Amino acid sequence: MAVLETRNLKAYYHLDVYGKKIVVKAVDEVSISFNQNEIYGIAGESGCGKSTLLKTLFDAVEPPLRVVDGDVLYIDENKPVSIYKIQPSERRKFKWKFISYVPQGSMNVLNPVTKIMDTFEDFLKPHANGFKIGELRDNILQHIVELGLRKEILDAYPHQLSGGMRQRVTIALATILAPKIIVADEPTTALDVVTQRGVIQVLKDVQAKYKNTIVLVTHDMGVHANMTDRIGIMYAGKIVEEGKTEEIFEKPLHPYTKFLIESLPQFGEKRKRESAPGSPPSLASLPSGCAFHTRCPFAMQQCRDSVPQLAEVERGQKVACWLHSGVKV
Ligand code: SF4
Ligand code: MG
Repeated sequence: MAVLETRNLKAYYHLDVYGKKIVVKAVDEVSISFNQNEIYGIAGESGCGKSTLLKTLFDAVEPPLRVVDGDVLYIDENKPVSIYKIQPSERRKFKWKFISYVPQGSMNVLNPVTKIMDTFEDFLKPHANGFKIGELRDNILQHIVELGLRKEILDAYPHQLSGGMRQRVTIALATILAPKIIVADEPTTALDVVTQRGVIQVLKDVQAKYKNTIVLVTHDMGVHANMTDRIGIMYAGKIVEEGKTEEIFEKPLHPYTKFLIESLPQFGEKRKRESAPGSPPSLASLPSGCAFHTRCPFAMQQCRDSVPQLAEVERGQKVACWLHSGVKV
């Protein structure tokens, strides 16, 4: 059952650079359906629009970013609400309670001069109708212990905690109101491997307990393999492949997905292997046709001429590539 959907979503940055108008197509015709009780991963290199997509999901769109077309639907108790078509005061009701956000670099979003307990209290007070401060504190304590943190950390300032602990605190903040959906942007990036594992485990535990939906953005295919149920591969603002995680890893269809998987270091290998040659194109001046054609070893004339649409080619597996068009389920 879907709890969140995007339909032909377009979110562009409208920039003015020395008087020249530039349009950055960070999210371009993206349609995804996120189900209840699943971890959905969004993969792809930096600069492909992953973080912007998360912002549009969380209703954190600020100029110069604009939703120019399409829809984001919040589906609470089977009632879809088109979030960008209702008043801001109505939208606010969904924030943190229906959907919450773990931003990129969230270890640095904690206020350095505020103790963790005060951060929690400040966060909860607007939502805590009728709660007494003692009850509030009991809830905070219970929640952080459930997430594997010691109660002493509530008395600490952020700089007194390790990076991994700070990240757990931000996850605790994002989950304390038991939201149906959590969107997380690179939650394990910048952590060492052991700490990463701990943070992944916390997210998995939270998901298993609350049966909510996690939308996880990371460029790290190893994290996707470990954590997610389904993956959407994003390239140049579009989803170019989508499917069950196992199937994507077993049988990637899009040449870009193959590159991403092949760039994962193999067991026992020290160095990262060669990934796709070159880098993603500028979202302000995309190549014609399939945006991957400038890096694709299989590019044909058709790829330069027209954009392949995302279509289901195997049950549940969708791909946008001319090599697979015309293949029927
Ligand atoms: Fe490569 Fe063409 Fe497929 Fe794009 S459409 S990924 S260029 S084969
Ligand atoms: Mg990003």
